[in-house]
Amino acid sequence: MSKTPEHNLEHAIERKSIRVQGVVQGVGFRPFVYRLVAEEGLAGLIGNDTDGVIIELEGPERRIKAFLARLAAETPPLARIDSVATADLTPTGETTFRIVASEILGQVGTGIPADAAICPDCLRELFDPTDRHYRYPFLNCTNCGPRFTITRRIPYDRPQTSMAMFPMCPECQAEYDDPLNRRFHAQPNACWRCGPQVWLESGVPTNRSSFVGWKSPDGVRIEPSDPIAETIERLLRGDILAIKGIGGFHLAVDAMSEEAVTRLRERKHRYGKPLAIMVRDLAAARSLCDLSAEEETLLKTPACPIVLARARQGNGVAPSVAPGIPWLGVFLPYAPLQHLLFADPRVKALVMTSANLSEEPIAIDNDEARARLGNIADAFLMHNRKILQRCDDSVAAVVDGAPQLIRRARGFVPLGIPLPLDAPPLLAVGGHLKNVFSLARGKFVYQSQHLGDLENLTGQQFFEESLCHLMHTFEIEPTAVAHDLHPGYLSTNWAKQWAGTRGLRFIAVQHHHAHIAANMAEHGLQGPVIGLSLDGTGYGTDGRIWGGEVLICHLDCFERFAHLDYTPMPGGEAAIHEPWRMAFAYLVAAGFSEGEATELVGASDQEARVVSRMIDRGINTPYTSSLGRLFDAVAAVVLNRRWVDYEAQAAIGLEGIAVDESDRIRRREYAPQLYACGRLGEANVLRLDDLWRSIVEDIRRGVPKQRIAERFHSGIAEGFIRAAANARESTGISQLALSGGCMHNRRLARYLRSGLEKEGFQVYQHRNVSPGDGGLSYGQAAVAAAILYKDISR
Ligand SMILES: [Zn+2]
Ligand SMILES: [Zn+2]
Repeated sequence: MSKTPEHNLEHAIERKSIRVQGVVQGVGFRPFVYRLVAEEGLAGLIGNDTDGVIIELEGPERRIKAFLARLAAETPPLARIDSVATADLTPTGETTFRIVASEILGQVGTGIPADAAICPDCLRELFDPTDRHYRYPFLNCTNCGPRFTITRRIPYDRPQTSMAMFPMCPECQAEYDDPLNRRFHAQPNACWRCGPQVWLESGVPTNRSSFVGWKSPDGVRIEPSDPIAETIERLLRGDILAIKGIGGFHLAVDAMSEEAVTRLRERKHRYGKPLAIMVRDLAAARSLCDLSAEEETLLKTPACPIVLARARQGNGVAPSVAPGIPWLGVFLPYAPLQHLLFADPRVKALVMTSANLSEEPIAIDNDEARARLGNIADAFLMHNRKILQRCDDSVAAVVDGAPQLIRRARGFVPLGIPLPLDAPPLLAVGGHLKNVFSLARGKFVYQSQHLGDLENLTGQQFFEESLCHLMHTFEIEPTAVAHDLHPGYLSTNWAKQWAGTRGLRFIAVQHHHAHIAANMAEHGLQGPVIGLSLDGTGYGTDGRIWGGEVLICHLDCFERFAHLDYTPMPGGEAAIHEPWRMAFAYLVAAGFSEGEATELVGASDQEARVVSRMIDRGINTPYTSSLGRLFDAVAAVVLNRRWVDYEAQAAIGLEGIAVDESDRIRRREYAPQLYACGRLGEANVLRLDDLWRSIVEDIRRGVPKQRIAERFHSGIAEGFIRAAANARESTGISQLALSGGCMHNRRLARYLRSGLEKEGFQVYQHRNVSPGDGGLSYGQAAVAAAILYKDISR
């Protein structure tokens, strides 16, 4: 008899190659593997290449199995494993474990890590007087620090980053070379002796009474003993400081000083739009906002996004930080430099807003900052580590119990987002405002950082600069370009031109189809689904402006089942900034006389006459089915808000005042009513007459505006739930995707999801991709991939 197989297995030596893909470079993955290998008593090698990490392990089968289980279970905080593929090799008798050099080989399938907030270990060292990193503003390790914003291309190694110009001192080098050290291959590793430094710059105003700029373009370097201490003093006395950060400059002022905040707004030409506030820690955030457990978790993630949370009454924050809305955008310090500012107990809360003029891209370069911010900032806290990629702070909110990204930038870019099907290399250019583009290849989409509006020249330059960088980084050479159906978008024209000169195919994708496709792709769905695309504006297949849509969607095509009734939009774009115009149009369409409508919207007779004439003659008056415009219009009437500083301002105000009401009787009367169109092949219509009659009736009866706002939200939800139920009756589809900019509205999202689930729908909400225009290019990429896939398999 032979010996038991068990005994043989115990000692059977195997060699396996293990290929790991995902975010596995520059995130402490190799030291982690090194430690596991040592603990399991294995031998072999590990190396980075452009496909990710390759490991070869030799040892008992049982040990290799244990290693693989621990690899998945104990992944370091910033790493993300997308796939692990193993293959058998012949054992070589190796007894040690080696780390082999990075090779530049093959196609790029790995992610550059995103920037991450300082980790607890580094934070401890920052304030430890006995540590050699004490108060060093640029300390970091493999678990934290800048990544994307300092990287030129992959593989992510020091020579490919802006740290290349800082040779490490012997102590840093020793940490970097030690596989068991937290700073093993931490590419931005640095200290007081060898790394970047900060300094403070000021200038002499060329005109004493009205500040118009610096005398010298280089600024005047101030030499205080401690530039950070001096920065704090200046902030506390109300100065505006430009502070160089991770993804760009911030403009900072004391958030408790109304005078300072007002001055910042005036100099920045930013009126109305809320400003983000940075606070020391979670306790400080709690003192300004009522935070849910989910919101606290979101604040503390390594991406450190700005979180929109409900402001506490009497929190002491200057009123002009977020005028007219009940939310505050708060975030925690993520760079060591920011922690040093908050180490002074007198610093309570700082407005930290992207350093730019209105919607221009954030400034990153020192000279660029001096030139562009000279008229805004009183002084500059500079440093000499180059920012290679502009990246604003990300913005997130907890919507209906789960986090949702409103602006995907620092901390998230350029992590790949999975696609449910294989894409050829392609580019999707996104929308018009709040632009984000996407590059796709294989099963992943790489979204750019938030680029802002393309309307100005710098916006377009930023677009091209980022595209060039991401194409280069991921080595993606697009074979097709997806764009919005709107013929007037700059991104559309740009896409056609770009695709034209390269002889590429271009694919037009309808705006609201792209929104739903983004949701579907995020959840791995290929359809069919019922899609509620509730949005501001998007160009429809009939040339009208859509935005309150019930669609039947596949990834590659869609049908329109129903939409909000078309209403004139007097003055086009102007109706967005003057929502009373929309309200006037809705009221007249609902059967109110022009006199009544004029009074209800608070317009002068002269104004009403002009708008009325525009509607009658169709002058510059497109038709829209937009839910966003309906929100604006209702807000205009209920809140007497005739003008807004930015899109959706009035609607946000309406959401903000709505109160929970147990009595939902009025809900049915407020709900838009579904009417069959009657014509074959045309979508059903959700009519708004009852809604407007109910609102006006409630206003005249003196019902508090808080309750009218609530009834409006629940009525809208009710109308769309009924329309969805109707769509299910005629199609049998019960999977439902929610998307579009209106899904940022928490109350609406909650009512829709709970109501639809009660009706038996399986409801999908956005999680990693924005429901607004920030998610558009991801949806375009999914649609284009599905169309191209179909063409190939045909
Ligand atoms: Zn760290
Ligand atoms: Zn050093």
